[in-house]
Amino acid sequence: MRALAALHREVAACARCVGAGFIPAAHPIFKGEVGNRVMVVGQAPGVLAHERPLPYTGASGKTLRGWLAAAGFDDGALHGRFYLTSLTKCFPGPSASGKGDRAPSAAEIAFCRGHMERELALVRPELVLALGRLAATALVGPAPLVELVGTLRPAERAGHRFHVLPLPHPSGVSRWLTDPANRARHMAALRLLDDERTRRGL
Ligand code: SF4
Repeated sequence: MRALAALHREVAACARCVGAGFIPAAHPIFKGEVGNRVMVVGQAPGVLAHERPLPYTGASGKTLRGWLAAAGFDDGALHGRFYLTSLTKCFPGPSASGKGDRAPSAAEIAFCRGHMERELALVRPELVLALGRLAATALVGPAPLVELVGTLRPAERAGHRFHVLPLPHPSGVSRWLTDPANRARHMAALRLLDDERTRRGL
């Protein structure tokens, strides 16, 4: 617990991406504690997350809560019992097209990767929900999202074994779910999540 609190202080003071010129200001967002059995790893916080300051309270959070409800979780699970983090902890800025947020660059993900690896090693979650291709591949290795969504992948960090359940990114600008075959993959993933919730008593 002390080690996680120390990590949280370290991340809260991190400004590596500001120093490297990627973002104008760092507002690292994360939430959770040792004992959280489910971890959510997203891509990056949204634009207003640091004002709330809580992950997954905007439109993406609403979509994600809907998915969790479909998998049988109660409405308080996401913000009450899950550890919430992302590949990069700071809002990366808007996309060049103006539609949605900019995906963090490989360099920013590399800067922030150590934070996530230490969160995994200290929190030791049983199940990690990976939101989107970037998060899923950072956890289980390179693969297209169509091969990942609907599967449960074993992973290990710092001697701790856990499972990764990839999901699409819940952002409204993601077009992935417009394909009926992908919607079927997504439904299979939610059924798998429901099975894991029941089997593990999450
Ligand atoms: S995204 Fe991560 S590495 Fe970059 S400034 Fe924020 S906390 Fe630091």
